[in-house]
Amino acid sequence: MAVLVIGAGISGIACARALHDAGAEVRVVERGHVVGGRLATKRYAGRPTDIGAAYLTARDPGFRTVVDDWTARGLALPWTDTLLAIEGGVRERTTGPTRFAAAGGLRSLVVDLASGLDVTTGHTATAEEVTGTVVLAMPGPQAARLLPAGHPAHRAAAGQRWHPALAVTLRYADRTWPDFKSAFVNGHPVLQSVADDGSRRGDGAPVLVAHTTPDHARGHLDAPEAAGPEVAEAVGALFDLPAPVAVHVHRWTFATPAYPADTPFLLADGVGLVGDAWGSPRVETAWLSGTALARALVDEV
Ligand SMILES: Cc1cc2nc3c(=O)[nH]c(=O)nc-3n(C[C@H](O)[C@H](O)[C@H](O)COP(=O)(O)OP(=O)(O)OC[C@H]3O[C@@H](n4cnc5c(N)ncnc54)[C@H](O)[C@@H]3O)c2cc1C
Repeated sequence: MAVLVIGAGISGIACARALHDAGAEVRVVERGHVVGGRLATKRYAGRPTDIGAAYLTARDPGFRTVVDDWTARGLALPWTDTLLAIEGGVRERTTGPTRFAAAGGLRSLVVDLASGLDVTTGHTATAEEVTGTVVLAMPGPQAARLLPAGHPAHRAAAGQRWHPALAVTLRYADRTWPDFKSAFVNGHPVLQSVADDGSRRGDGAPVLVAHTTPDHARGHLDAPEAAGPEVAEAVGALFDLPAPVAVHVHRWTFATPAYPADTPFLLADGVGLVGDAWGSPRVETAWLSGTALARALVDEV
């Protein structure tokens, strides 16, 4: 069996990994210059910063095995099970599952999962390449561009609704904020969450990453950089901080799916759709989706 996987985020790489390990011939193409997708780690002033997913969780036993292996090899770090919830003047600690981070940035985990696979980066796939068995491992609106209208997978992909977000990296002269790891900011007009990047990466760098609300992001998709000062001011007001020494804005047009699908993937006329829209919008869902489709393809032959 020969399969083309388009998209080297964690869903595409998980799918390719499972197909490769089952003996299939699999090739991955990715339009970016690196693998990882929204498990995105970008260097600012030479230091890697997580600007996509803030952390990952692992409830599924299969995914947990992968995360435990990353942890045993020092790639992933169990970071915290306690986050801060801020709503107006109320601040509360909330405890939940262990959140995992990565010293090298979350992208390094996808790089590890991709080792030994045939991956071509810097290649934007076109609709002409969607022949034979093809997996579209990306947000539905991006997948829809690669499919003819009327294809059953086109309907499912184009029907997905997605929220945007801005990820704003704020570098300070010193760490002057209280220890909070990551905060959900509820009911705020600008901020959705703020994470301590120095804490999750373990180097103690004075760097925070704020994610903005979908409504705020929607108003800044054309000129995201212009939102930097407003986000810096909002974070400063939340934690009583001085002005940051540097601000970087990254736009995610398709950050999180609005509605979860109730199946782990779609497979129609040789085209598979996978990603975090096929369940709750998490890294774990994307891995499960890609892995489940690979198993279904292997079982078909
Ligand atoms: C701001 C933000 C915060 C988040 N926070 C969390 C969190 O804290 N915890 C959590 O679990 N999840 C979080 N997520 C969600 C998590 O990042 C995703 O669930 C996961 O990374 C999705 O992986 P994926 O492979 O499905 O999609 P993606 O990572 O989006 O991968 C799709 C890939 O396809 C490529 N591509 C698209 N079109 C083409 C084409 N034509 N040709 C070639 N390549 C193409 C893209 O470049 C991309 O690399 C967050 C996401 C964002 C954006």
